[in-house]
Amino acid sequence: MGNAGLLEIRRIKAALARIAAGDYGICAKCGQDITSERLDVLPDTPFCRNCAE
Ligand SMILES: [Zn+2]
Repeated sequence: MGNAGLLEIRRIKAALARIAAGDYGICAKCGQDITSERLDVLPDTPFCRNCAE
């Protein structure tokens, strides 16, 4: 497993931390819900589509 694998593990751990904190699926910037369509594509994103752009 190379750097890409390590990066992915770090991102998954960050997502798990947000799930544990109860703010998974909520934008870290504006506090809006992140759409389930977006979470399907980017399960570990901390931002909604507006804030990620
Ligand atoms: Zn946002």
